[in-house]
Amino acid sequence: MKTKGGLLFTFVLLLTFFLPSEVSHAVIKERHEYERTGNVFWEAQTDEMLVALTFDDGPHPANTPELLDLLKKHNVHATFFVVGKWVDAYPELAHRIVDEGHEIANHTYSHNYDEQISKDTLMDEIEKTNVLLESELGFRPTFFRPVGGYYTDEIIEAAIDLNQDVLLWSWHQDPRDWAGPRMESIAAHILNGITPGDVILLHDGGGDREETLKAVDRIIPILKHRGYSFATASQLLHSNTPSPASS
Ligand SMILES: [Zn+2]
Repeated sequence: MKTKGGLLFTFVLLLTFFLPSEVSHAVIKERHEYERTGNVFWEAQTDEMLVALTFDDGPHPANTPELLDLLKKHNVHATFFVVGKWVDAYPELAHRIVDEGHEIANHTYSHNYDEQISKDTLMDEIEKTNVLLESELGFRPTFFRPVGGYYTDEIIEAAIDLNQDVLLWSWHQDPRDWAGPRMESIAAHILNGITPGDVILLHDGGGDREETLKAVDRIIPILKHRGYSFATASQLLHSNTPSPASS
């Protein structure tokens, strides 16, 4: 019995020791560890009065055309993180985004919320949208943004292995428009926190975005008046990209 008990004790001890690593979740490093790769960005480190508007989860048959009209009215270019299944449904909107001088970027094919997504599954999700955009538009996007802004080693590696740069957003520039705040609150959040190099997170897909659209209409002239210009993600983060920022 003594030996059995000893064995059992050793077994339990070993379990305690090894189980946590066996069932451990995805590895997440500090933000600066990822930034050091040169392929992962939250915002630009710059003193230039440049910011980027980014819109996720479209294209949407009602919101996206309205937003494109608005951006045209203000002569501003933005970056659209599109979901592949919606590009499949509304390819003409992907064309319109690019034709009007905006940047298109990859936000997976199915937009599944899954922090524990495997690297292989995510690579399929990214690649399916890349192939779709390439067949529709003739090029692959530069940037990828993970669903929900989740980032783990697996998620970052999946994107980098596919030659995608990863763009999250400035943590102080998420007015949570998807949760349905009034436009005054969205606009105030952006305007109060704005600093050069900010990447602003908004949504044109996923539901009714009237308040987002009204907020965009309000903040653009105010930010221009403060001396800011609007850049696409590539213009903001790859300043050697030879295309001028829109004013
Ligand atoms: Zn999203």
